[in-house]
Amino acid sequence: MSAYDLVIRHGTVIDPSAGLHGRRDVAIAGGRIAAVAEPGTLEAARSLDASGRLVTPGLIDLHAHVFDRGSRFGVPADACCLRRGTTTAVDAGSAGAITWGLLADELDRQATRVFALLHISMIGMPADGELLDGDWPDVSRAVETIAAHRDRLIGVKVRLSPRVVGANLQRAFERALEAAQRAGVPLMVHPNAAAMPMEAILERLRPGDIVTHCFNPSPQSVVDGCGTVHREAFEARRRGVLFDVGHGAGSFSFERAERALAQGFAPDVISSDLNSLCVDGPAWDLPCTMSKFLLLGLALDDVVARATARPGALLPVEGLGTLRPGAPADVVLLERRQGRFEFIDGARQRRTGGERLVATAVVRDGHVVDGVGA
Ligand SMILES: [Zn+2]
Repeated sequence: MSAYDLVIRHGTVIDPSAGLHGRRDVAIAGGRIAAVAEPGTLEAARSLDASGRLVTPGLIDLHAHVFDRGSRFGVPADACCLRRGTTTAVDAGSAGAITWGLLADELDRQATRVFALLHISMIGMPADGELLDGDWPDVSRAVETIAAHRDRLIGVKVRLSPRVVGANLQRAFERALEAAQRAGVPLMVHPNAAAMPMEAILERLRPGDIVTHCFNPSPQSVVDGCGTVHREAFEARRRGVLFDVGHGAGSFSFERAERALAQGFAPDVISSDLNSLCVDGPAWDLPCTMSKFLLLGLALDDVVARATARPGALLPVEGLGTLRPGAPADVVLLERRQGRFEFIDGARQRRTGGERLVATAVVRDGHVVDGVGA
């Protein structure tokens, strides 16, 4: 009788949480990681061949939009996340207090593991403009909803772009900060083109809060108009504020990212902001977004850490984003596809790279997922 249900053999394992990068086999039993050991030492009823592949913890996308039925930005989680290597996604504010129940029902029908940030607007994001009415950002309803669903709701989301908030910028931002404070959770801020200096936004954020779209092309980016990383961004990072990529349709600029990386300001988390406006390009999926950071010179292990262990540490399930024995058995096999790939950013700038990460097999809770691989 075999000791394990499944062994993933012959791959190169990268588990940044353990500082591991090397040839290992990974054994799974009862839906959990059971062992990571030297090749050929683990017996199982079933094996998955990972020859020529990277074997990493299932990818975690800290910023995605999977409210397929309730938001124009939504995409189906299993088709766009799970089958492309993202075993865990965080829906970043597609639902607010009055629509959360609908999103929760939709998520119950998906195999992707999904957590969510609750929008400070009670209506969530059916389309742009969710804060144009000053009554929609509602602290009490947000706090109550989060308190009732702490297993899935991990924070508050606010968007500060003019087309989203209109005249309610200050009110929306203050209420989002207050709701996060009262609920005891982080706030994720989308600052793009806000009618408020980036320095003023950064100064209000507390340890654990998250700046998404950190390399967006507007002046409300971590990089100022002269190409210098804001002093306040370094200060915010020192006190524990996190910086997330959130690629999306128009929220990622190669040039901003290059400037920031050159000044020692790498993102804490690499996320796709996958939504209906970028799933067919320019973001495509999380492995493509990660590939852009390989192109920009970030080391492979650092890229993997920013889409596994780093976001995993923010989630309420122990071991997500790692291959630690006892962790949920979420694993992805990635091919480092070689060739000539044209990558496009949110400002429609192009860069040519020599490799692209592609998920070729996915394991979720110990089960091999069907329909993976291009
Ligand atoms: Zn988003």
